Amino acid sequence: MKQKFLGILFLTAIFIFTAYYIGLNQSSRQLELLNEKLTILEQQMNNLPNENELEEKEQQVAELETQIKTLNDKIQQLESELSRLAVEKKPTKKVFLTFDDGPSPLTKDILAILNKKNVQATFFTIGTMMEQYPEIVKQTYENGHMVLPHSYSHNYSIYSTFDMFYKDLAKVETVYEDILGFKSPTIFRFPGGSSNPSSIKFGGKQFMPSLTSDLRARGYTYIDWNVISGDATKISKKPNKMLEQVIKGSQNNNFIVALFHDIAPNKATAQLLPEIIDYYQKQDYTFRTFRDVTSEEIEEMMKRGIANKTISY
Ligand SMILES: [Zn+2]
Repeated sequence: MKQKFLGILFLTAIFIFTAYYIGLNQSSRQLELLNEKLTILEQQMNNLPNENELEEKEQQVAELETQIKTLNDKIQQLESELSRLAVEKKPTKKVFLTFDDGPSPLTKDILAILNKKNVQATFFTIGTMMEQYPEIVKQTYENGHMVLPHSYSHNYSIYSTFDMFYKDLAKVETVYEDILGFKSPTIFRFPGGSSNPSSIKFGGKQFMPSLTSDLRARGYTYIDWNVISGDATKISKKPNKMLEQVIKGSQNNNFIVALFHDIAPNKATAQLLPEIIDYYQKQDYTFRTFRDVTSEEIEEMMKRGIANKTISY
């Protein structure tokens, strides 16, 4: 019995020892693994930048940010400089299309073309023609164009005396007000323009110099032109020549008052008008009228001898 007891005790001791040994082994392996992990963590810790390095990096980032800001400011400066130069390089080109001696049935064709192209123009009209076609005058104004007096009779004998001239002017102004319902502006165009040989024939050499100075003193502005199509001359039979003439006169010219005529037989003008408008549009001109003409534009016309030209012979 005692022997059996000792056997059991011996076996139990062996069992406890074995279990202990296995447990110990496992713990030491876990310890080893933990040690390895610790070494890796230490290495990683060593690789992390220290406080000084961090500060240095932060400074570098701040410097780079300042540089980016400076460059952005520079870009903005250059961009505004570029747009300023673009504006300076591209001065506004202006063209005033003007039609004399109407209204006539041809005016309707001219209006249709202008409306289709969405372009406004100015019409210097004759009193007798306005009496004949009041509806066309109204339509012209209603379509956004400008109507201004040219003369009542368009008879060059008006240049015989001041009295004859002013009576004719007063008459066309009355017709104007009767049809359009408001007073005519004091802007007009002389038949034949401010320098015309007919005035010398009727009133003598001194007539226009003194008439123009008298008109200026009364506050009138008379408008000539600096580009012609020749549509009132023989070349109206040759539309290509007319276009050539317009283009020739418009080159290197950024401020244009172009002269056309909307008298009934002048079909070539209507025929050519779309091409003329296309030409000015391609050349970046802005279409202007005397309906909303500015005082700066009138001044520009004076400088260029298009408005209130001083006449001396
Ligand atoms: Zn005329």
